[in-house]
Amino acid sequence: VDIARLLKSFSHILRLLENVDYVRSFVRYNNKRRSGPPRGVRAATRCVIARDAGRTRADAAGIQQFCVYFAQGCCTAGPHCQYLHRAPTEQDTVTLARDHSRDCFGRDRARHDKDDRKGVGSALRDCRTLFVHYGGAGGLSASEVQQLATENFGEWGRIRKVYVVPAKTLVFVQYEARCSAEFAKEAMQAQGLTGSGAGEVLEIKWANDDPNPGVVRQVKRRRKCLCEP
Ligand SMILES: [Zn+2]
Repeated sequence: VDIARLLKSFSHILRLLENVDYVRSFVRYNNKRRSGPPRGVRAATRCVIARDAGRTRADAAGIQQFCVYFAQGCCTAGPHCQYLHRAPTEQDTVTLARDHSRDCFGRDRARHDKDDRKGVGSALRDCRTLFVHYGGAGGLSASEVQQLATENFGEWGRIRKVYVVPAKTLVFVQYEARCSAEFAKEAMQAQGLTGSGAGEVLEIKWANDDPNPGVVRQVKRRRKCLCEP
């Protein structure tokens, strides 16, 4: 038996395996038909930043893309993941704001929102507000929902404002940074509000406009800036 040849083919196999790993993660991130749980069913996993966050290969390689599976609490790659396993920080906000064509997970943004406002979000509209339907928890008072939403959504980034519309079981959550809103949208989709005790399943979309008049003016100003070349 030629040992040198055996070793060579062994290292060749190792390299092939590495490629398989890369191809698999590439396919995962480009699979547009990825479907979540059916409507009205809670997601099977949830991210807990304090428990799950940690360094990955992306930190060493200086990659500025967050792991969407980490946000959903279901990444199995752990420290070997090619994407970041943490929530966006103030520093990331500055870096990510330079590129309007992709979201914080590296997914292409469309020029305009999809009709159902569920997708990645628009490249032209700097939306930081989430439209959250909390149907099952309609028995809670507005101040209870305000409190729970602030606690639950505060895990993913700094919140500017929480605005509850109890008559429609809606809550609008506005973040300081767009990447925090993007991360929270993935992290809280089909989750419940921890501490509510009701069986609500959150349904999250991009807010059309925040009903608060001050925010409407802000959004208009920002849109104008983004649309001007
Ligand atoms: Zn990951």
